[in-house]
Amino acid sequence: MEIFDVGVIGGGVIGCSVLFDLTSAGYNCVLLEKNEHLVSESSAGNSGMLHTGYDAPLGSVELTCIKRSLTKIVKVFEKLGVPFRQNGSTMVAWEDHQVQELFNIQEESKRKGYSNVHILTASELFQSEPYLNRSAKGALWIPGEMILDPWLASISFAHHARLNGAKIRTSCEVLSCKRELFDAWSLHTTHGDIHCRVVVNCAGLQGDLVDKMAGYQDFSIAPRKGQFIVFGSKTSNLINSSIIPIPSTTSKGIITFKTVYDNIITGPTAEDVPSRSIPRPEPLIRERLMESACNTVPSLMDYNIIGEYTGVRPATQYKDYQIRSHQDRKWITVGGIRSTGVSACLGISSHVCDLVHDLGLDPSRGPSSHIERINWTILPGKAAIHDECVYHMTHPIAKYGTSKNSML
Ligand SMILES: Cc1cc2nc3c(=O)[nH]c(=O)nc-3n(C[C@H](O)[C@H](O)[C@H](O)COP(=O)(O)OP(=O)(O)OC[C@H]3O[C@@H](n4cnc5c(N)ncnc54)[C@H](O)[C@@H]3O)c2cc1C
Repeated sequence: MEIFDVGVIGGGVIGCSVLFDLTSAGYNCVLLEKNEHLVSESSAGNSGMLHTGYDAPLGSVELTCIKRSLTKIVKVFEKLGVPFRQNGSTMVAWEDHQVQELFNIQEESKRKGYSNVHILTASELFQSEPYLNRSAKGALWIPGEMILDPWLASISFAHHARLNGAKIRTSCEVLSCKRELFDAWSLHTTHGDIHCRVVVNCAGLQGDLVDKMAGYQDFSIAPRKGQFIVFGSKTSNLINSSIIPIPSTTSKGIITFKTVYDNIITGPTAEDVPSRSIPRPEPLIRERLMESACNTVPSLMDYNIIGEYTGVRPATQYKDYQIRSHQDRKWITVGGIRSTGVSACLGISSHVCDLVHDLGLDPSRGPSSHIERINWTILPGKAAIHDECVYHMTHPIAKYGTSKNSML
């Protein structure tokens, strides 16, 4: 009977990055994903932006993880060959009274250590974003924000771990779990029983339900939907940076941004929904998004959308991430990674490595910090293949971006 060092439940961006870092640290890991494909729930419906944490509260676990992630993510992406671009974000004041807000956010950003954030007058703004609606009053330039292919990033983390010896089981749902007498967890799954010394619960929208299997009830998931519309890459010259509004206390608001494949996307909305499953796009919201896109960049009126998608955030009753180590039973929960999981992923995984180390678990293999570039064979709109492993393209940013009709 094989006993893994660590069992990671969930193959979204968080599970994949945790698997990547733990395997590199020498832990013998297995990742269990209930769906047929990795990256098929929250992580398949996001904006694919690396945020600096401009709206994350000072002192929060979220901000700490984002900052920690950003110190290493660029190097890791360069080594793995994940497409990304530092194109910055332009936070626009659309009303006179919002200009003061920009100064407040600039001050707050400086307190968070981002001294390069600065105010643009309306004329400076129109020089950098000539197609923006002329009613804009000014902006805050946040140069550190980036865009990436969030799907290729996640599967590259998972595949690199696999090449380093990690096991990945898909269509493998954890149904129940038990802490056995011999100091290991027995995870009862749809693929039989898996044994591991430590469990890391990265189950996203089911994070609270998986925690409950182990007897923990520290938070409840409150799903929050987001919807997007996608334009073809012919629109790409209409913006240079991600155009973001002033955030509210609950949402970053509707953004008009360009992907690494040059599609312009507008979204996401933020709606509390009763179901944890990924819903279909709604026509009324599509209209609202189209209106928002054309209000931001009027020339978008001349183009049709080529697609749309939705995502659901694993929000909870708390604003901050819910990351906890239950030391006595060697169970780590990485829950409620609401709206910045892609940005914070490698900070979260470093934090999880520290927590596993603090449990006194020594890696059963030698560490391997060497990161190899993955030379993927990409089937446009469909899949990425390497070393006989086929990863189905689940994220619309990758699907629309690599497929032929993305030019429309
Ligand atoms: C609309 C929207 C926009 C966003 N925009 C951004 C952005 O621009 N930048 C950013 O940084 N973040 C963004 N996010 C947030 C980011 O997408 C999330 O923080 C992240 O995807 C959460 O990842 P996860 O791995 O925790 O969850 P998931 O991706 O949901 O992964 C959890 C996995 O666990 C699996 N699972 C659950 N239960 C079990 C079980 N019992 N057994 C086995 N497997 C199980 C699920 O099938 C799932 O695949 C956005 C999110 C949304 C929805």
